[in-house]
Amino acid sequence: MNKLTYKVDENGYYGNFGGEYIPEILHAVVEELKKAYASIENDSKFQAEYDSLLRDYVGRPSPLYYATRLSKKYGAKIYLKREDLNHTGSHKINNAIGQVLLARKMGKKNIIAETGAGQHGVATATVCALMDMPCKVFMGALDVARQAPNVEKMKMLGAEVIAVESGNKTLKDATNEAIRHWCSHPKDTYYVIGSTVGPNPYPSMVAKFQSVISREIKSQLMEKENTASPDYVIACVGGGSNAAGAFYHFLEDDKVRLVAVEAGGLGIDSGKTAATMHCGRVGIIHGSRTYVMQTDDGQIIEPYSISAGLDYPGIGPLHAFLSENGRSKVLAANDDEALNAAMELTRLEGIIPALESAHALAALGKIKFSPSDIVVVNLSGRGDKDMATYLKYFKS
Ligand SMILES: *Cc1c(COP(=O)(O)O)cnc(C)c1O
Repeated sequence: MNKLTYKVDENGYYGNFGGEYIPEILHAVVEELKKAYASIENDSKFQAEYDSLLRDYVGRPSPLYYATRLSKKYGAKIYLKREDLNHTGSHKINNAIGQVLLARKMGKKNIIAETGAGQHGVATATVCALMDMPCKVFMGALDVARQAPNVEKMKMLGAEVIAVESGNKTLKDATNEAIRHWCSHPKDTYYVIGSTVGPNPYPSMVAKFQSVISREIKSQLMEKENTASPDYVIACVGGGSNAAGAFYHFLEDDKVRLVAVEAGGLGIDSGKTAATMHCGRVGIIHGSRTYVMQTDDGQIIEPYSISAGLDYPGIGPLHAFLSENGRSKVLAANDDEALNAAMELTRLEGIIPALESAHALAALGKIKFSPSDIVVVNLSGRGDKDMATYLKYFKS
């Protein structure tokens, strides 16, 4: 029997998940994008420009930090992959640079993006400032209110922020609106999707742009531990891009246990949750066949998480496939567990994490480690944007 492969197939599927479920009007642009992306995948000039921006503009490689006090507390060797130290404060910039370079190569004149916590919006607005391209960012009105510092940054960077008032005014609704805009301006507009979601080729393209994370982990671990394979890699999942990047080069290495942590919200059985792989069923969302939180009639159930970046009722098709095949283990961390994990990291290591990343940290208490286990937690972002939430929670 052939060994399972975790690579996307020629039609954009991971097993039964993925594909291109798009309105007819987008067919030609998606075809154009697939061709353009295929042409740069092995284009050494494109890759050289991308790599040089990752190094000199983003500040890569991001450190792999041995967290001494956290390790002591959980009884394993815990390393943090410091994506929080990237320019603009999260992993999102790795993907935004790749896609805006691609848009420029395709001759597209306008950039649009959706954003939840605002990190993808800030990253895209940043690269658009750098490359002198106009940028519109769609953001749910609730997120505009709860992530104010990022809204101010996007505006200062010259982007137009469009507050979306539909649905529960969060990431799903922002994505709907961005797709609507794309449908009415398909020729001149490039849509920079911020996670491993959307129609083919987005999920595999975004995973590839983020795969620099696990490429670096391998060589950094080799230097520190004399092995390229950790025992565990733990990452939070909203749409799944930071986890895809952290897992990428370990997918075929069965020794490495992959742990994806969803946002439990108030609890996976509370009806107020964003734990899509725990609560969802197979359906279609934003161009892709994957798990979706939905009613028996196929209406989307509004997700809930305290963390704007994880507050999404779908999940990237790669993660649906990894979970279905038992390659990844999917856990959920609730709001209060994430908040407490954020405070714990702050007090043990002097690092204030993003609320999203705090969900990954909260998984440390849910796994039984042996003292020799090498554990890498992907610290996807920093907590500046979440200070108001932290202050409110820890005051009472
Ligand atoms: C956007 C974001 C996430 C969630 O998105 P993924 O695509 O699942 O990675 C996680 N952490 C941070 C810091 C983010 O900004």
